[in-house]
Amino acid sequence: MAAVIAQTALLLQQRLSTASEEEAIKTIADMYGSRAKRALEAVMQGKVKKYVFTPSGDVIWCVVGREREYLVIPYCYCSCEDHLMSVVVNRSVPFCYHILAVLVAQITRRYKEIVGEDLTYYRVIRELLESTL
Ligand SMILES: [Zn+2]
Repeated sequence: MAAVIAQTALLLQQRLSTASEEEAIKTIADMYGSRAKRALEAVMQGKVKKYVFTPSGDVIWCVVGREREYLVIPYCYCSCEDHLMSVVVNRSVPFCYHILAVLVAQITRRYKEIVGEDLTYYRVIRELLESTL
């Protein structure tokens, strides 16, 4: 899975260097259909968040979904049900739309950054995972 996501990131970066952002994003949308559409909408609507903890500099990514926020480990994990069922269990797709949204947000630098103290790191993770399954 990580290789597919890395290839997607590379393709998006290449397109962004030679074409407009709109065209680059369209390329990704053409490749991944509805999941890509939802990912791009999430990015455009500012639903991707980057928590940065100090003084360690540790980072947590999350995407605000319809019902709650999902913890995303770039390139490998999302706490949503689609990731568990479609990516891990059925292996029908390489990633859920949240993982793609974080990828696009990182490349386009469109995300909300929230800075917090290291003491709150595990509380944030716990809250993001609390309602999983
Ligand atoms: Zn997900």
